[in-house]
Amino acid sequence: MITAHLTETEIQLYVAEPELISDELTAHVQGCALCQSSAANYLLLFKSIHDTAKPTFDFELSALVLEQLPAPKRAFPWAVILVLLLSVTVAAVSALFFWSALLTVIVGMSGILFTIAGTGTVVIIIFQIIEMLKDHQKRMNILLIQKTLQL
Ligand SMILES: [Zn+2]
Repeated sequence: MITAHLTETEIQLYVAEPELISDELTAHVQGCALCQSSAANYLLLFKSIHDTAKPTFDFELSALVLEQLPAPKRAFPWAVILVLLLSVTVAAVSALFFWSALLTVIVGMSGILFTIAGTGTVVIIIFQIIEMLKDHQKRMNILLIQKTLQL
């Protein structure tokens, strides 16, 4: 049995989350009148904090805040279209310019090499999709947790 009294933090833990306190500390509290008195005080304090009425507004706060927020702007995605046009142009020019070389490579490529390259491409795409789904799920969980905390 521990002879020294529990600290304030240990007594608060004993009252709030007794499963986190070691058996020795629990045994000390059960045999010590001073620590039992402190624990009773904290129990009363926690109970009164829990029982106090939660503050409420007599108006709808979220409606007032939403009124003052600016409306979201739906800008035309010029940058995306510009990058898309540039990419397509570069790919088309490259295909036209190197068409004979590409044709020679594709025709000359052995079946095994083509299969290996195709399989590798499919595997990479599958891993990319799995990674994207995991990332999406993680973000959704974070959003749901934040939404839960706000309520
Ligand atoms: Zn004690």
